[in-house]
Amino acid sequence: MSISLGMPALAGRPADVGPRPNGDPSLVDRWGRIATDLRISLTDRCNLRCTYCMPAAGLPFQPPSQLLQADEIARLATIAVRQLGVRQVRFTGGEPLLRKDLVEIIAAVSALEPRPEISLTTNAIGLASRASALRAAGLDRINVSLDTVHAATFLEISRRPFLERVLAGIDAAADAGLTPVKINAVLLRGVNDRQAAELLDWSLTRGHQLRFIEQMPLDADHSWDRATMVTAAEVREQLQEHYELVPDDEPRDGAPAELFRVFSRDGSEFLGLVGIIASVTESFCADCRRTRLTSEGAVRSCLFSHAEVDLLGPLRAGASDDELAALWRDAMWAKPVGHGLDAGGFVQPERTMSAIGG
Ligand code: SAM
Ligand code: SF4
Repeated sequence: MSISLGMPALAGRPADVGPRPNGDPSLVDRWGRIATDLRISLTDRCNLRCTYCMPAAGLPFQPPSQLLQADEIARLATIAVRQLGVRQVRFTGGEPLLRKDLVEIIAAVSALEPRPEISLTTNAIGLASRASALRAAGLDRINVSLDTVHAATFLEISRRPFLERVLAGIDAAADAGLTPVKINAVLLRGVNDRQAAELLDWSLTRGHQLRFIEQMPLDADHSWDRATMVTAAEVREQLQEHYELVPDDEPRDGAPAELFRVFSRDGSEFLGLVGIIASVTESFCADCRRTRLTSEGAVRSCLFSHAEVDLLGPLRAGASDDELAALWRDAMWAKPVGHGLDAGGFVQPERTMSAIGG
């Protein structure tokens, strides 16, 4: 399914954004979209080096003093929920489990009124010993990245031999009641592109909900190639060789994944759900409800933005909640209409997915 705004797909900040109308407290943008889903990156560091995200040698990481501290995260989340209409908060990174104060951060956000839904995107390394505490602190949902169940392919993609630790983390998340565990997978041509059905079988058997994500040009190595990327259409075709897929008719409600009900090939047995996120080929920009905070406390209105608005500097300089809310609203007002991947002159943002917060 393709959603069109009926407007040209431009990325980047336009020369003249024009003034934001006074009086609307929400994170509305010029195209009428309202952001209610906040993604907070907790760190730009990671213990994996996935080829579609990080370079083998890592990146120049931010010093800890330049990262949002737990109390600063709590303050910005409070502003987002109480003044700006945010209803969902997702913690991501880099690898958010590398933050020792993650339980404290989640507990602070879960104490907010109104309480937002709280989720975490993680590679699950170290989750085995922390899943229960995260759940007890108020974590509602979890997404774990897992592109393969083969140790050799895992090593090839992530450049680290940690598959067993990830699988243990997924088991612990399910045991802690963070169900259904959502699994995020990216397929790479010539690496794991023929493993879609096997990964779905693995997920369905364990009651997890798998979502395939089209690879986006947000890698440090600039290796993304539109011509060879594995498309959502190709994933659907591959899965249909083994399963019957029926589009789920629940409204997507701003969710990027197109959901399918999965049945056995003869249609007799319902097995579960699978999601396909066609970030590139069937852009959902028209229905985007996201606002992002980088780990250094800057607002990004879009994954593909070239502009950011710093909140941490003003916060540390003594800005009031109202002043920070106004900066945040202005940043979102300038949100581009779409990622513009198919428009001529697309320029990949300097930040990688790990440094933005995926
Ligand atoms: N480290 C955590 C993890 O891997 O789940 C959280 C951060 S990671 C940047 C968040 C999500 O972005 C992961 O599911 C990952 O697969 C996805 N991702 C990273 N780079 C991507 C890319 N170039 N295209 C599509 N998805 C990507
Ligand atoms: Fe780390 Fe996640 Fe990027 Fe992989 S996708 S390198 S786990 S931040």
